[in-house]
Amino acid sequence: MRMECAIIGGGPAGLNAALVLGRARRQVALFDDNQPRNAVTKHTHGFMTRDGAKPEELRSLARQDIKKYPTVRTIAKRITGVMPILGGFRLQAGDGSLYECRKLLLATGLSETLPDIHGIRQYYGRSLFNCPYCDGWELRDQPLVVIAEGSNAFSLTRLAYQWSRNLLVCTNGSMRALTGEELQLLQRKGVAVSHDRIKELAGSEGMLRAVAFENGGSSKRTGGFVSPYWRHASPLGELLGCRMNESGGIETDALGRTSVYGVYAAGDASVIAPAQAVIAAGEGSRAAIGMNSDLAREDFA
Ligand SMILES: Cc1cc2nc3c(=O)[nH]c(=O)nc-3n(C[C@H](O)[C@H](O)[C@H](O)COP(=O)(O)OP(=O)(O)OC[C@H]3O[C@@H](n4cnc5c(N)ncnc54)[C@H](O)[C@@H]3O)c2cc1C
Repeated sequence: MRMECAIIGGGPAGLNAALVLGRARRQVALFDDNQPRNAVTKHTHGFMTRDGAKPEELRSLARQDIKKYPTVRTIAKRITGVMPILGGFRLQAGDGSLYECRKLLLATGLSETLPDIHGIRQYYGRSLFNCPYCDGWELRDQPLVVIAEGSNAFSLTRLAYQWSRNLLVCTNGSMRALTGEELQLLQRKGVAVSHDRIKELAGSEGMLRAVAFENGGSSKRTGGFVSPYWRHASPLGELLGCRMNESGGIETDALGRTSVYGVYAAGDASVIAPAQAVIAAGEGSRAAIGMNSDLAREDFA
């Protein structure tokens, strides 16, 4: 099967790209294996007209929008291989089926690994989150923990301070997460810091109650933020040789074009940092405009 555009990833970035390309009357295949990063959470906040919507509800509404456009096919498969061919790309799905396209959008998102702390998974997405803009409002003015083992410990804490002044920063044994200057500033602001290793998180049904340390101490905390380790959910960008940006995401220009001709990227895959659904959707739209205008230019010549 050969189409004009293939989109890999059916999150906000890929779905919005499919919508724009469908409306541009392009032959599109949207591949998705339905493993979004935000599947752990119950609500998506900060998306206009849909503030608080369930992540799956948002995707389902987007899929309904796309159904109006007959040139868009949604294919529930994982793409496991991609290779350049004359005038485009050949994709291989997990079941061995092959597809060809002229332009390819990588909207594959991220996957994340949480710090190695007993019980942390059950709280993530319920009372422990990675992005204050997404979930800070729900945690406002509560006693919060900020779990960060890396050099972003200070910036995440400074941000979290906007939502609660009752903060405990836990570096989980990492002595290098905060500089001396940062420690002084946190102290001046009344933010507590612990370098002790966390033994476990206590609570029930995803709602945090306390952080227990290996040294026997504990602190009552009803929620907080954690800094996960992010990586690409799919290696396809690297396999194609796309240049990466400073954050480790796929580098793009203002219309989503990567360093490899005919390959575009949008959403979390292009920025390895806490991002938002509405930004991913916007980037999907932008990349779709890039793909369509490049096809128009090539075909009009
Ligand atoms: C706990 C948590 C809470 C969040 N809360 C909010 C919030 O309140 N508000 C907000 O705006 N944002 C929130 N986010 C962030 C938001 O979910 C992401 O920024 C957004 O989903 C990124 O969209 P995307 O399309 O780039 O990637 P994703 O939504 O991750 O979608 C990528 C899709 O690509 C598919 N895929 C990957 N590789 C392949 C492949 N090889 N073949 C086929 N399919 C593939 C995946 O299965 C997935 O369906 C939250 C994230 C988390 C983890």
